[in-house]
Amino acid sequence: MTATSRNDTLFQRACRSIPGGVNSPVRAFRSVGGTPRFIARAQGPYIWDADGKQYIDYVGSWGPAILGHAHPEVIEAVRAAALNGLSFGAPTEAEIEIAEALIARLPSMEQVRLVSSGTEATMSAIRLARGATGRNKIIKFEGCYHGHADSLLVKAGSGMLTFNNPTSAGVPPEFVQHTLVLDYNDNAAAEAAFASMGDDIACVIVEPFAGNMNLVRPAPGFLETLRTLCTRHGALLVFDEVMTGFRVGPQGAQGLTGVTPDITTLAKIIGGGMPVGAFGGRADIMANIAPLGAVYQAGTLSGNPVAVAAGLATLRLLGTPGFYEDLAARSARLCAGLEAAAQRHGIAFSSDSVGGMIGLYFRATPPTSFAEVQECNIEHFKHFFHAMLDHGVHLAPSAFEAGFVSATHTDEVIEATLAAADLAFASLKR
Ligand SMILES: *Cc1c(COP(=O)(O)O)cnc(C)c1O
Repeated sequence: MTATSRNDTLFQRACRSIPGGVNSPVRAFRSVGGTPRFIARAQGPYIWDADGKQYIDYVGSWGPAILGHAHPEVIEAVRAAALNGLSFGAPTEAEIEIAEALIARLPSMEQVRLVSSGTEATMSAIRLARGATGRNKIIKFEGCYHGHADSLLVKAGSGMLTFNNPTSAGVPPEFVQHTLVLDYNDNAAAEAAFASMGDDIACVIVEPFAGNMNLVRPAPGFLETLRTLCTRHGALLVFDEVMTGFRVGPQGAQGLTGVTPDITTLAKIIGGGMPVGAFGGRADIMANIAPLGAVYQAGTLSGNPVAVAAGLATLRLLGTPGFYEDLAARSARLCAGLEAAAQRHGIAFSSDSVGGMIGLYFRATPPTSFAEVQECNIEHFKHFFHAMLDHGVHLAPSAFEAGFVSATHTDEVIEATLAAADLAFASLKR
């Protein structure tokens, strides 16, 4: 391992004052070993660590950096907003502008409420769904991540539809007793759950393209089945587009698939690197939110003017004609090159991409379920991850994360990535 000196020093220092040395566990290198890189600055497709080493970055702040890091127009928007004051705790015109921008892009959304993170968005969406339907039960899918609210930190237990287990200490089993956990892409399981307790189900929450168990596409008919079941049983369909929103296409996953959710949650890209989240849907559903309705939801920094300025500038730039076609072509080109390199070296590997989101899998074909994701060769991933890092490419430090391509990952950057990958795949054989 070539963890360099200042990174090591910083990590040791961080571990004294911050649990595990990181402020979010996905940043730790626990599943791959070694020391996380401390980032000093970023520009376009590149990040530089505390030792001055440059990397091509495919984490992109876990999604927001779709325009590349530190896009000059986004930075300028932030600077201009900051000069007018950082926060007021009172409404601003920019909040209306971003609400209008989101509604204009996502036809399923008639109204939207801003929050400061994806976790807040999903937590609030679930409360809204329960309040609007007067029901308690929710359905989520194994391997989908919806932030760290108590009722969503749950995995399927042995009792299938009845007994679930919290995935975190500190979550009482009673807090997850209303959460049903089903298999992603399993229509029959969703049908069975609705058949047995359809009248009690407030909502189904789903990542319309799963991105938190690596990238897993919805099987043909899966989202349509969820839509049909929700409509038939009076439940609400919640698309968690915190990752996919404006990442897979100009209208998110709902635009790509043509399936219309009742509620959508957003974050990541809509903040352009600053903390912005949102949840929205039909006006009659949103009317349940305080101050109009009885579902309480609030936030001191919600709609923060500096964060909103970054989001608005980002959304505006995403409207450039051909942006998503170009982005999708870059991702596809990267994936094709990686597959070719793996094949040259006889490594079982496959990949997939949707817009600016990529999946890299150490197995022969892209996974279609949580179980198939588990079949990826983790040892190969760990080795590949460190080899890529040595050769100047920064991937997410886990075999179970999607990767993110930006508009600044030019052909030249992709060629450099593929040259590194060729060496990394070659080193797997030794
Ligand atoms: C990142 C993510 C979240 C959580 O967002 P935070 O801003 O980290 O709280 C929720 N849902 C999905 C699909 C995500 O990818």
